[in-house]
Amino acid sequence: MSHIGNMHRGIERQLRDKYRKIEEENASLLQLLLQHQGQEPDLADQASTASAQDWNMIRYNRNITLLKDITVALKAIDNDSYGICELCGDSIADRRLLAIPGARFCIECQEMIDANPGEFGRTGLGGGILAAV
Ligand SMILES: [Zn+2]
Repeated sequence: MSHIGNMHRGIERQLRDKYRKIEEENASLLQLLLQHQGQEPDLADQASTASAQDWNMIRYNRNITLLKDITVALKAIDNDSYGICELCGDSIADRRLLAIPGARFCIECQEMIDANPGEFGRTGLGGGILAAV
């Protein structure tokens, strides 16, 4: 428990890196989205262009959510309240935090919650997870 501070410094750097990369990706995604807007694709191309654009849009929106999660995570790191499972109090693995910066539970607790959604839904934890996504 005493090296949590160090662990957080490591992940803070990685989260900032991730943030920058996502921002860059979103800048190019936005260009792609704007480029194709109002363009009349060939009929043959239309379907594939539409689905590529849908995918870009989905990715763009998911990135926006990730950027918000990372911002919240970086604040929590400042408060020294980041990366602690809200259920068992253990530290959440860095790998998991990098994949899901808004994670509130360690993988063991998350699996248990996923396996018993009704159980945890009644205690209000289910809603918490949804809110964290
Ligand atoms: Zn846990």
